[in-house]
Parts: sequence; structure tokens; C-alpha cells
Amino acid sequence: MQAGYPTSWYAHSVGDHDGYPALSGSKRADVCIIGGGFTGLSAACTLVEAGKSVILLEAHQVGWGASGRNGGQMIRGFVGQEKLAKRWGVEGTKAVDEMMWAGHDLIRRRIDDYSIACDLTPGWLEVASTPRQLAALYHHYNEMETKFPDRGWHFMGVEELRATMGGDHFLGGLLSLSDGHLHPLKLCLGLARGAASKGAEIYEHSPVIGIEPGAQVRVTTADGDVVADHLLLAANVHHQLPVRELTGTSSAAASYMMATEPLDAALLAELNPKGYAICDTKKVCDYFRTSSDGRVLFGGRVNYSGRKPKSVQAKLLPRLLKIWPQLEGVKITHEWGGRLGVPYGQVPLIGRVGDNIWYGAGYTGHGVNMGNLAGDMLGQAIAGLNTAHFDLFAKMPKRRVPFGHLSCARWLGQQAVSLAVFYYWLKDRL
Ligand SMILES: Cc1cc2nc3c(=O)[nH]c(=O)nc-3n(C[C@H](O)[C@H](O)[C@H](O)COP(=O)(O)OP(=O)(O)OC[C@H]3O[C@@H](n4cnc5c(N)ncnc54)[C@H](O)[C@@H]3O)c2cc1C
Repeated sequence: MQAGYPTSWYAHSVGDHDGYPALSGSKRADVCIIGGGFTGLSAACTLVEAGKSVILLEAHQVGWGASGRNGGQMIRGFVGQEKLAKRWGVEGTKAVDEMMWAGHDLIRRRIDDYSIACDLTPGWLEVASTPRQLAALYHHYNEMETKFPDRGWHFMGVEELRATMGGDHFLGGLLSLSDGHLHPLKLCLGLARGAASKGAEIYEHSPVIGIEPGAQVRVTTADGDVVADHLLLAANVHHQLPVRELTGTSSAAASYMMATEPLDAALLAELNPKGYAICDTKKVCDYFRTSSDGRVLFGGRVNYSGRKPKSVQAKLLPRLLKIWPQLEGVKITHEWGGRLGVPYGQVPLIGRVGDNIWYGAGYTGHGVNMGNLAGDMLGQAIAGLNTAHFDLFAKMPKRRVPFGHLSCARWLGQQAVSLAVFYYWLKDRL
């Protein structure tokens, strides 16, 4: 168990992490990064690989935020990709296709380059609960198979699904072997080690409390400061620092997870013999998989208020038992939650303020692929290597709540997101 992380199966199973010191005194770097999640860590790797000096400041510990607590489902594409493609026409469609698995490819490359053991497993199975969802999934399958024939697609009906996931709660499913799942906290720590091995300075327990823009940006923490040519904001919804460009452009949604005790081998082989990650096709989805030590990890929504629930399992366990009644009586050993950024305009918020303050956030539930990709995209843009995809995001018009700098407007925005989630929950049932 790693101290300092929120209680989760990931913190329980991550192994040793010596940690990094807190920032103290004055430092200088080409690039200062705020936030040690996928965005910040991936950018740090790209930048040090490009020969830049990097200082990364993390308020808690590397992977403390959504990146170290998520479902670990490595899902192609990103939320808002249709909007981005439509806005930029042929160029946008081409870019979306190029980005579809680019985050996965990057993760795989870094796993190899930095010898990161993070339980990467192929196979992501989307499952449909209603005839309407099944028809939509089949349509999607035909589109994908035509456009990307070599990505390991397989559509299955209820009979085959029964053998693949030990039950007939769902009507059919689409398997993609190019997607998969991994241990997200192990990936975070591995990326941090990789970046540090190439010279990045990482400081934990170093919340940034001030930013002074300028030709050189000055970033302050309680005990130190960093002067840098560029600053990257990679603090997701936890970001509390005033950057006008981003005010009122996103809200936060919460997602929750729980882990069962380890199951016996025969039961595991019945429930998930191939070890796929599974996610239902609902907009407000449940996602689940088995872990490397034989547990079921199950996640999803628990309420619409955004308030922290008293018991995660009280909400999630009944849904798990509907899918796998074989688990009746199973013990839940861990439960946890986290917050993810939801841009009002859906498209991830990736761009630049002035000449040298850059940002990347708001990947909704697709941050494994997109967070890693966005960090790389930002790193490449900052290093002056490639700005093609970055520019498409940066030039996207933003949707924002009026008076977003006022806390009451932010509260209203949060309620609007809760209402939208409730609307999709109702729609999913039709
Ligand atoms: C429960 C849950 C399940 C999810 N499941 C999936 C999934 O299965 N697949 C998927 O693709 N996506 C999933 N997501 C979404 C995904 O985890 C996120 O989109 C992604 O991790 C966001 O990465 P990030 O780098 O932007 O932010 P984060 O990982 O949140 O990192 C931001 C970091 O910034 C730090 N920070 C904040 N303020 C400061 C400051 N002032 N100074 C210094 N540091 C600061 C924080 O401590 C934090 O560590 C899930 C999210 C949650 C919460």
C-alpha cells in the first residue's frame, strides 16, 4: 500500500514508490509543468526526449489525480472527436483518424522504452443492453471494420457473449483487440521514472500557489519558485489558478470504483476467461474488468448531485450482481472515486494563452488514450517539433458558461452537467 494516495486497489497493488522531494529554493527550466497526471507526465517525457530541461510540480504525489485512480480502460479516440472532425472538414477527419490509437501506440512505446510493468492487456469489449444500442453497436462495427480493417474487430451475439463473459445480461458486444486495459497508477509512476531518468526534475507535495506570466513565467510554491520559458498547466479539474482563457469552459464529474476480494480461478475463468476490459454502451456507462490479482474492478456513476456518496458499494454492487449474479456474497475490499474534467464544448481543452502558457485538460472518460496523447501533442508543440494536431484543438471555439469567474455561475454549470448526465441516463434506458 502506498501512503499518500487515496485508498484504492491501485494504491494497494502498486508496489514501492520512493517518491520525489518537495520543491525548495529557486530553480530554472525550459519548461515548468503543473500536474503529475497523464498529461503532465507524458509532456515531460516528450520534452526531455527532445532535449528540453523540465521541472514538474505535483501538489500531492505523481498519479494522485484521475490518472492514478481510473478504470484503466484504454479506449480509442476521444470525446468530442465528431465535433472536431466536423469543424475542420477533411483535415479534421484525417486528424481524428490519425489520433484514434495514437495514445495507445505512445503508451506501448513508452512501456518498452522505460520498461514499465503496468499489466497492459489487450481487448476491450463494448456491450449493449437494449435492441436499439445493439443496432447502433452493429452499425459502429461496420463503420470501424471498413475504415480500420486491421484492428482486430469481432462482433458477437448473445450466445458467444455468454461464453466470453459468463452471463447473458447483455444482448451482444463488439470486441476490439487494439484497445485494452492497464494499471494506471503503475503507468504514472513508470512515466515519472522514465522522464526523471532523462533529466526531468519532479517535485511532489509542491502545490503551485502563484503564476506570474511574462517572457519568462514565474511559478511559486510555498517553499520555492521556478522560472521557465514555458509553462504547461496539466492540473485537470483540480486547477484552481486564475487563467482567464479557461474560465467557465469546463465542469467536473465524479466517477467511482470498487474492487472485490480476489476470486478463485474457476470463477474468474467463467466470468472473464480472456481478461478483457468491458464497458456498456450507455452514455453514462458502467465499466469493469478483472485485475492481475484476480479481482473484479467495477466502476460507474453513483449519483447526479456530484456529492460524495456515503458508500460506493451500496450503489455499484447491485449493478455488478445484475451482470454477474455468480458474485453474490463477494466481499468488496476497496472503494474510491475521482474527478474528471468535462468541457462544455465536449472537445478536450488543449491550447495556449499568450506566447508561453500552455494547457491540456478535459478528456471526460477517455483520458488514458487522450491524456497521454495530449501531453505528447503539447510537448511537441512547446519544443517546436510539430503543431499540426495541436493547432486544430487550439483553434476550436470554446463553449463557456457566462460569468464563469463567479462561483455561482460555476455552481450552475455543475448543475447543468448533473442534469445532462441524468438526461443521458434516461435516454440510455429507451
Ligand atoms: C474513477 C475514474 C475512472 C475513469 N476511468 C477511465 C477509464 O477507464 N479510461 C479512460 O480513458 N479514462 C478514465 N477516466 C478519466 C481519466 O482518468 C482522466 O481523463 C485523466 O486521468 C486526466 O488526466 P490529467 O493529467 O488531465 O489529470 P489528473 O490525473 O487529474 O492530474 C492532475 C494533477 O494535477 C495536480 N495538481 C492540481 N492542482 C495543482 C497545483 N496547484 N499544483 C501542482 N499540482 C496540481 C493534481 O494533484 C493531479 O495529480 C476516469 C476518471 C476517473 C476519476
